[in-house]
Amino acid sequence: LEAQMRQSEKLAVIGELAAGTAHEIRNPLTSVKGFIQLLDQKYPSESPEKAYFRIILSELDRVNEIIREFLLLSKPTEPNLRLIDINNVLEDVKTLMSSDALLHNINLEYHLSQAPIVCEVDVEQIKQVFINLIRNAFEAIGLNGRLAVSVRADNRQCEIRFTDNGPGIPTDTAAKLFEPFFTTKPEGTGLGLTVSYRIIQNHGGNILVDTREGEGATFRVILPLAMKS
Ligand code: ADP
Ligand code: MG
Repeated sequence: LEAQMRQSEKLAVIGELAAGTAHEIRNPLTSVKGFIQLLDQKYPSESPEKAYFRIILSELDRVNEIIREFLLLSKPTEPNLRLIDINNVLEDVKTLMSSDALLHNINLEYHLSQAPIVCEVDVEQIKQVFINLIRNAFEAIGLNGRLAVSVRADNRQCEIRFTDNGPGIPTDTAAKLFEPFFTTKPEGTGLGLTVSYRIIQNHGGNILVDTREGEGATFRVILPLAMKS
């Protein structure tokens, strides 16, 4: 519980920071990018400086991406709730991710339920969570692997599982996964799981991870079912 308190304190601090500064950073950044693009155009295509511009521009994009996730964290997260069949949300996400799966030769296996699983959720936010989890699995797998997505429900809640056969997560790092800025990737923001955790908590659910180093990882998203009236 204490760890959870620390976590939410951290999130609150980050939220304030983000709200206060992200927009302020974004504007000068946009103008920097514009002028760099102008400069870039002045150099003939065979000049070696072109490579520097490419790096500068892609690094600027990265900063923008970090700010975007920062803003997601700071936004009032009052979800826009609708009744929806979780199977449908998963179907949509599958369509979005299937070209990536193909590209990396990852077998994206789906086990949806026959019966509808109705939850009251913000569809865009829940999609974001599923995409984050699938993207992380793909990044962990790299090339050639398997990701199984399954869903089941009892009369109270449903559980969506994402099981990959990637490298898994060492025990000491598994504890830090949901902390802001924790990443093991050179290009990572370390915010994907933080944002996902917060979204699911706001929906009255939970995200859990089961993993062993060398044996893949399973992320479990638990969501309450909609009340029948
Ligand atoms: P990012 O993807 O930007 O690194 P995330 O918050 O999405 O940030 O993930 C944090 C870290 O959790 C990742 O850098 C990675 O080390 C670890 N991780 C997440 N999902 C998996 C997975 N399926 N298999 C192995 N490691 C994972
Ligand atoms: Mg991620």
